[in-house]
Amino acid sequence: RQPIVAIDGPAGVGKSTVSRSVARELGLVYLDTGAMYRALTWLVLESGISVTDRCAIAELANRCEIQLAASLDAAQPVRVWINNREVTSAIRSLEVTANVSAIAAIPEVRHVLVKQQQQWGQKGGLVAEGRDIGTQVFPDADLKIFLTASVQERAKRRQQDFLAQGQPQVSLEQLERDIAARDWQDSNREVAPLKKAAGAVEIITDGKSITQVIAEIVSQYDR
Ligand code: C5P
Repeated sequence: RQPIVAIDGPAGVGKSTVSRSVARELGLVYLDTGAMYRALTWLVLESGISVTDRCAIAELANRCEIQLAASLDAAQPVRVWINNREVTSAIRSLEVTANVSAIAAIPEVRHVLVKQQQQWGQKGGLVAEGRDIGTQVFPDADLKIFLTASVQERAKRRQQDFLAQGQPQVSLEQLERDIAARDWQDSNREVAPLKKAAGAVEIITDGKSITQVIAEIVSQYDR
């Protein structure tokens, strides 16, 4: 099969921008697994199901169909559909963001979505981005990267993203709180907690430009 690059890291570390650019430079397909958890979360909220109703959520996960289309242009959002409804911007809302970690902690949800992600990788030729790509989804990936940055740095970057996308402004304190809360939830859940995979190369991105981080990953790949 073609090579697989796994890129993991916490919320707001710049994974999406970096992963898409790496995919483009290496001529590989880009898979945003967070978008899948977000789409399901949107559907749960839309359906009026309680985020604690594990059974109903598991059933929804089993029956839903998620489609993703990433443009080669990293400035364009990844387009996402769930059950044929386009949710590209809806899945980036604060409400979805606040609830996604709880949904992603449900074992049945992970089971279904991980299987779909592995299907994407059957032939390889993929840069997959998430929290558990190197540990669970593609433990045999050809290159595993673990991106990190301080909470303060990540909150600043998120704020700039919101500004660039013309979204309503959110204070740095609020963003830091949100990021720290998601870090805690993602790292302390029972199934597939966020952690550096065996054999992963850790890149601390504080003070580094996106271009520098992309170059570091591409040079690791070329080794
Ligand atoms: O990457 P993004 O911030 O869009 O991911 C949203 C949420 O989805 C994360 O906070 C995490 O709870 C969950 N997630 C996950 N496993 C992945 C990707 C995302 O649990 N592989």
